[in-house]
Amino acid sequence: MSKIKVRNPLVEMDGDEMARVIWAMIKERLILPFVQVELKYYDLGIRNRDETEDRVTWQAAEAVRDWGVGVKCATITPDAERVAEYGLKKAWPSPNATIRSLLDGTVFRKPILVKNISPAVRNWKRPIIIGRHAYGDIYRGVELVVDRPGKVELVYTTGRGEEARLCVHDFKAPGVVMGIHNLEGSIRSFARACINYALGEKVELWFSMKDTISKKYHAYFKDIFDEEVRARAADLQSAGINYRYLLIDDAAAQMMKQEGGVLWALSNYDGDVFSDVVAAGFGSLGMMTSVLVSPDGVCEFEAAHGTVRRHYYEYLKGKPTSTNPVASIFAWSGALRKRGELDQSPEVAGFAQRLEDAVLGCIEGGIATKDLIPLMEPRPEAFQTTEGFLEAVAVRLRGLMKGERA
Ligand code: NAP
Ligand code: MG
Repeated sequence: MSKIKVRNPLVEMDGDEMARVIWAMIKERLILPFVQVELKYYDLGIRNRDETEDRVTWQAAEAVRDWGVGVKCATITPDAERVAEYGLKKAWPSPNATIRSLLDGTVFRKPILVKNISPAVRNWKRPIIIGRHAYGDIYRGVELVVDRPGKVELVYTTGRGEEARLCVHDFKAPGVVMGIHNLEGSIRSFARACINYALGEKVELWFSMKDTISKKYHAYFKDIFDEEVRARAADLQSAGINYRYLLIDDAAAQMMKQEGGVLWALSNYDGDVFSDVVAAGFGSLGMMTSVLVSPDGVCEFEAAHGTVRRHYYEYLKGKPTSTNPVASIFAWSGALRKRGELDQSPEVAGFAQRLEDAVLGCIEGGIATKDLIPLMEPRPEAFQTTEGFLEAVAVRLRGLMKGERA
């Protein structure tokens, strides 16, 4: 069988633990036997980040920016425990945060739906995609514990020395304060990325804040979002896409009654919380994909889950695991499809589709990893190991590729 040629390189970022083990299997069994692609490889495994003083993460992020499409394995974000576990020089920052900040990207998380798994929320029939603003708010906040009476003020000093002051609170007893910020440019890029994504996926666009309470901070987001939507009104209208602004609590309740087919744009914290709510509502973290999109269309694809640490410790003991590789496979298919579109090679995008079809065909035929079994109807009698599942996908994919060529 001749391999499908990919015209331009794909940036590949390797990762950690069980995710890294699955990553190598996917590449070896489902990608390289079928496509000829130049992979610009960056090892973001924790040991290499430590050895290179994290330079490798920056190099990888720059490569994604330069080549336009990247695919990333889950990586450890080290804390004190990990520093001790791996003997690291320090707790290096989250690679995802580094890549996000270099690309000024927005993260979209989308569940993979299969016919024989019904979401925990009965009404959900089509994906609910979360668009999470990935800059600022509490993630760049400053905080202070107030341990005795005193006045806390917000002071803004301009370059010319003019000053504006607001009393945050006049403390008579202990308490706590926080200062957060955001940037117009970042909110605008976020709104644009969401509009582009909704147009690309042909889904409704919702945006939620709490501007009834936060009349300046949250209203600022709402106003910018409204402006950007107005600027693209003609495109949205001709694509038949509705834009709705709802208060966050109203939106959370409304979303339960929806069929799906919505991109829900959310602030950084709301997006953090609701992406996990939606993932759990649809079934399993192993079925949630994630793509980072920059304002100029650079895309980085990954699974939404982490390195699946607990499974890795079992794997190290030589025990077979049943880790769901679906979201990682879809990271590869998403990246290849995007590469194919940019290179105008329909056969590459076609391969990506067949790879996804092979995965969905297996699950719909009752072949699945352990996490999915309790969610499936009818419930399969046995679950597959990680390798067993990947082998079944490979067999099916070979069949689809042959059928295509016959
Ligand atoms: P995790 O890797 O997402 O796994 C948490 C639990 O969810 C697993 O123990 C497993 O439950 C279940 N799970 C997640 N993915 C699964 C899959 N593909 N198949 C089957 N079950 C799956 O989170 P974690 O173990 O808390 O975090 C481990 C490391 O990942 C941390 O160091 C964190 O920094 C990193 N992380 C990285 C990213 C990223 O790179 N994008 C994202 C999140 C976390 P059971 O054990 O019950 O089977
Ligand atoms: Mg989170």
